[in-house]
Amino acid sequence: MKNIDLHTHTTASDGSFAPAEVVKMAEAVGLTAVAITDHDTTAGVTEALAAGEELALEVVPGVELSVDHARLGSLHILGYWIQLGHPDLAGRLEDIRGGRGKRNEKILARLAELECPLKLEEVEQIAGGEVIGRPHLAQAMVQRGYVNSTQEAFDSYLARGKPAYMERERMNPDEAVDRIRRAGGVAVWAHPGLVGLDESELEKEVLALVSAGLCGIECYYTEHSPRTTELLLKLCRRHDLAPTGGSDFHGAAKPTVKLGVLQVPADLLEGLRARKP
Ligand code: AMP
Ligand code: FE
Ligand code: FE
Ligand code: ZN
Repeated sequence: MKNIDLHTHTTASDGSFAPAEVVKMAEAVGLTAVAITDHDTTAGVTEALAAGEELALEVVPGVELSVDHARLGSLHILGYWIQLGHPDLAGRLEDIRGGRGKRNEKILARLAELECPLKLEEVEQIAGGEVIGRPHLAQAMVQRGYVNSTQEAFDSYLARGKPAYMERERMNPDEAVDRIRRAGGVAVWAHPGLVGLDESELEKEVLALVSAGLCGIECYYTEHSPRTTELLLKLCRRHDLAPTGGSDFHGAAKPTVKLGVLQVPADLLEGLRARKP
């Protein structure tokens, strides 16, 4: 049985391996396709596509957007096969990355008040790419010895509700799905199982996203229980959506997630491809 992985991060956002390295690793563990889905950027896609061509491994260009849901807080939407540099998406991603910059300044100011000063330059060095996220701030805090692990940095400072948590500008779900669609992409709800909804609430949300243009659901996911996966597969059948799956591989930033472990049947890729506008 062949497997694919439609959710990975690289050094273009908060992953620890370069795009070409992720593709090489995907090939080495026997996957038949891998999607690069960095947070708020497609900067890693070109390098990954070139690496895929060299290895004859299909690389699916992607992106992962965090959206602000009025009731549910932050949800993540994946966009596949978006046209790189499409004006309806690329410019908005640039705004969103600008919003990260503003948030990071606020977090650094707050951390300084909490006696954990960090310099922006040291965080930029850890990030290495154009997207600086909380995992990079967490790594900088470990490096300085303020905390023993990145998880402790989240639990004590950076997670929502903790003293150094700051909001940033995010799209609403409809806008994100619509912009992915207009950029020629296919929108998928990432890891719905992490929101903690019951079946009827999940279904209600799926339907709301479908009316905005959602085409699929990430059913197979590292942190989904078999029961959650089954439930999401059922919702896909009931509402004619494409089931997908991905590990959310980040490398060292999420050391428990390894490439090639999650079983995502390779034939799901064709079902997703068929949804391209
Ligand atoms: P950001 O995009 O800067 O808001 O950071 C989001 C990333 O931080 C997510 O993709 C996770 O990898 C990580 N993250 C968020 N919340 C937590 C948490 N409570 N514990 C550990 N990692 C987290
Ligand atoms: Fe991440
Ligand atoms: Fe996510
Ligand atoms: Zn992700």
